[in-house]
Amino acid sequence: MANSSTERSAAERRREEIEALLAADDRRDFAFAERGFIATREDPVIPRDSGGVASDLRGYDFLAGPPAETVNPSLWRQAQIITKHGLFQVMEGIYQVRGFDVSSVSFIDAGSGWIVVDPLTGVEQARAAFELATAHLGAKPVLAVIYSHSHTDHYGGVRGIVSPEDVAAGKVQVIAPEGFLKEAVSENIIAGPAMLRRARFQFGGTLPRGPEGEVTSGLGPGIPSGTPSLIAPTLDITRTGQTLTIGDITIEFQLTPETEAPAEMNFYLPAKRAVFMAENANLTMHNLLPARGSLVRNAKGWADYLTEAIRLFAGRSDVMFAAHGIPRFGQGELTAFLRSHRDAYKYLHDQTVRLMNNGLTPAEIAEEIRLPESLSKQWYNRGYYGTMSHNSKAVYQRYLGWYDANPANLWRLPVEEESARYVEAMGGAAAVLARGKEAAAAGDLRWAATLLNHLNFSGSGSAESREELARVYTRLGYEAEAGSWRNIYLNGAQELRAEAQPPRPAPFRPEVLGAATTAMILDVAAVRLNPEKAAGLACTLNIELTDTAQRVVISVANGVLVQEEDVVEADADATIRLTRPEFLMTLFGVVPAATLIASGGIGVEGTGGLYEAVAAAIEAPIGNFNVVVP
Ligand SMILES: [Zn+2]
Repeated sequence: MANSSTERSAAERRREEIEALLAADDRRDFAFAERGFIATREDPVIPRDSGGVASDLRGYDFLAGPPAETVNPSLWRQAQIITKHGLFQVMEGIYQVRGFDVSSVSFIDAGSGWIVVDPLTGVEQARAAFELATAHLGAKPVLAVIYSHSHTDHYGGVRGIVSPEDVAAGKVQVIAPEGFLKEAVSENIIAGPAMLRRARFQFGGTLPRGPEGEVTSGLGPGIPSGTPSLIAPTLDITRTGQTLTIGDITIEFQLTPETEAPAEMNFYLPAKRAVFMAENANLTMHNLLPARGSLVRNAKGWADYLTEAIRLFAGRSDVMFAAHGIPRFGQGELTAFLRSHRDAYKYLHDQTVRLMNNGLTPAEIAEEIRLPESLSKQWYNRGYYGTMSHNSKAVYQRYLGWYDANPANLWRLPVEEESARYVEAMGGAAAVLARGKEAAAAGDLRWAATLLNHLNFSGSGSAESREELARVYTRLGYEAEAGSWRNIYLNGAQELRAEAQPPRPAPFRPEVLGAATTAMILDVAAVRLNPEKAAGLACTLNIELTDTAQRVVISVANGVLVQEEDVVEADADATIRLTRPEFLMTLFGVVPAATLIASGGIGVEGTGGLYEAVAAAIEAPIGNFNVVVP
């Protein structure tokens, strides 16, 4: 059982371990991060096209000195490495712009033009990176863009590099792993609003950047605020071993589905003896389940694909580069790195399952599991983004789900009801506040957070109890080695201190929904249907999208919206004729359906008023729901 003295000694042990590691640091990672530096941007500000700032490269200048008291020194070291910015030569003919964005863009010289790999998150950052490369390496056309995987920081800036017109005209190939577009659109769409809200914690987007605020995401610099874009791939990679020649460069691909992303791939350049590891090998242990939320990833599959990559590529490579972090130089170095990094994921998976099969529950496994020292002393296996703690819970979740099999946890009271009873059982609000302060003063921060959180959710919280918890979260954030955990705690503290906000609808994002299939759009509509508003509504509608010649049937009954594509219902109550943009805008309440029906923009044949009633029952989710307060 933990008490304040064992908690404190655990914190001391963690600190001593990090101090010993720092003392023994051979600074190889710093040398790799600086190797091949050519130049950086003269103007540190990358402006956003719509006004304001997309990236400010001065944001991390504070890291130049020794670690601040308010930042874990291991995270400080990590942040110094991953925020180095500029154009770097990885080797002859391979260049990267790093530090302009959370991810890095790579430029491969294919003789008559560039192959551009993973064009960052925002159009502005990507354009700035390409301008920097052009200024120092000379102007060349872009022959191809490669998206290594389906996350937005690997394709969002594409229009800063190439135009959709050039892609449509066949001047530029856009290459991606099989399933890329579906995954890119779908991963964040159904659960998008909740994920976006939770992402604010993981990335600390509203925290000031600095020693008392955001110190990177742990994976790369913080998420910048550039303009996102997407151009659909023109060529899918469908199997490992597939090769492609662009200009005078031949590429061998390795598909790695369901690793860091549902659709992802590594590749090898035989002529360069260089391997690109996408986001499968990083300068940190990655997330099996990010705090923002996602489908849980496959730790075993991840390790297995790293094993395959070592077998396929390591023996033929002198250089490894990737979409985040730093390159590694030398066959021995990169092979040892890939093996050790693979072992970290394999150990995490295998030992979580072993403990799980011995009856340990997620919190117990997270407390017990630690990498062996031979792995944990490697900086790149440490948890700056994912951690052994929350990743082991993800492994458990993938196999067994949220329930720990204890009947007491099968049907627990919701947090507010439970908290009210705890506070009452512990002698009331004043007693809990006093115990929370005592725990905080003794350095028993996790228990202090539990006590004060119960108090704040009990209905008896106060400005004082919120401030006490904010201080506890701040101390937990300052101690955290993971950039992600630091952001989570500091964002929690910030929200505890903020004024209560009225609920706001989640932003409508036509640029994302517009790229989705009609079936996906209707899936989103279905999860936004309010059954109270749809009570008594029972109808079947044929929808004819006049601009795309597509037909769908939607039925609403029992508070459920059901869709069928490419069919027509002979007994439908009505047929609705409209364009796809009109369908999107009316279904999600941007324009009232009644307005377009009255103006004749939308045609209705059959019973009137039904489409308006369906649209009226679909409501926007709350974009700013409470997290740290009831
Ligand atoms: Zn990424």
